[in-house]
Amino acid sequence: MSASKVPGKASAILQLTCPRCRQGKLFHTPTTSFRRPFDMKDHCEVCELDFMPEPGFYYGSMYVSYMFVGGFSLVFIAVFHWVFGWSMTASFAALIAIVAIFMVYIFRLSRSFWLGVHVKYRPETRNAK
Ligand SMILES: [Zn+2]
Repeated sequence: MSASKVPGKASAILQLTCPRCRQGKLFHTPTTSFRRPFDMKDHCEVCELDFMPEPGFYYGSMYVSYMFVGGFSLVFIAVFHWVFGWSMTASFAALIAIVAIFMVYIFRLSRSFWLGVHVKYRPETRNAK
């Protein structure tokens, strides 16, 4: 990625990159990989940001995950039950399937969001290595 094309904060969060340099990846493997889905790197490979600033730092990301999935579930059930006329059972079955498929990305997105909220972007850290 060139220095002239810096992703925005929301884009960096969605792409699961380091919030300080917006270059380094937060996780060892791609989200679609089944290997080590919940293992996060210890620090950024570009700017050396510690991804575990303190013990229990990511407890807050559980609330973020709850907020994402809770809001999505309410909208999903409302739309499929009242707009498309699906039964409650079918709507919940579809919801459970979708949430199960995207579980790893939801987990990673919540952590990325939580870290992104707490760490400020510092352009001077880009291409430090
Ligand atoms: Zn970084």
